[in-house]
Amino acid sequence: MRTVYLNGEYIPDTEAKVSIFDRGFLFADAIYEVTLVLDGKLIDFPNHMQRLKRSARELQFPFVPDVDQLLEVHRELIRRNGLVDGQIYIQITRGNALDRDFAFPPADTPGTILMFTQVRTAALDQAMKSGKAVVTMADLRWQRSDIKTVQLLYSSIAKMEAGRKRADDAWLVRDGLITEGTNNNAFIVTKDGRLVTRPLSTDILHGITRKAVLDCAKEMGLEFVERTFSVEEARQAKEAFSTSATTIVAAVTSIDGVVIGDGKPGPVGAKLREIYLRKGLDAAIG
Ligand code: PLP
Repeated sequence: MRTVYLNGEYIPDTEAKVSIFDRGFLFADAIYEVTLVLDGKLIDFPNHMQRLKRSARELQFPFVPDVDQLLEVHRELIRRNGLVDGQIYIQITRGNALDRDFAFPPADTPGTILMFTQVRTAALDQAMKSGKAVVTMADLRWQRSDIKTVQLLYSSIAKMEAGRKRADDAWLVRDGLITEGTNNNAFIVTKDGRLVTRPLSTDILHGITRKAVLDCAKEMGLEFVERTFSVEEARQAKEAFSTSATTIVAAVTSIDGVVIGDGKPGPVGAKLREIYLRKGLDAAIG
């Protein structure tokens, strides 16, 4: 049993209840963040909270999340659940509208805030040691993938479809170009050793790990370019990997059944992961 947080209260997960009229439930009118916890400390927390505020602004939420207050709740959940390695999920909805109506409820309707911890040591280890097989699939998500909303049904379907094809994940494709993974950003290393990832736009989530990894590349003196790349270019890459807060850097060793490089997790991803972990832990918030 976990202790979760719901609207100001710390309660057992079995007791956390949300109204059937909550906008998050009826319209997926909600934003979220997932922050990595390592050694009981929060990794990259300020950037996750900045993106949460941006998502709230982009959806015209009439309130702004209070980051100091949310930090206290994150800390308290780590403490109460004895979380060492894992993640904290936070979701904020536009609140309980007391009925189903497409129009937004009055601006003074309080948002619903819920948070819970997840233990995830296996996912972290696995991503480090073995590569993932990905398959490419049409990106049929809405056109504001830069906002971190809970409208995740297509991503979930794509993940299931990947599983049916005996792959671990899907890389999504728009106009022949890779956008991103179902819950991660996509990177390749070209034959001439350059790191490539798609530039920021409304087509992709502005990954916190993506940005941190690009900073690490700069520190390594590794040449990188933010540009689009095709499925074909990805299949021919020397190395490929994905980034996300929960898996950090995860090697991609095949795309649509085509083996990438020598089929093993590559050295560039491994090095970036190592630097990211060192810098992330140095700056972690306990
Ligand atoms: N892209 C999508 C669609 C995601 O859902 C996620 C994370 O959930 C990411 C990228 C990676 O973002 P971050 O590095 O901030 O976890």
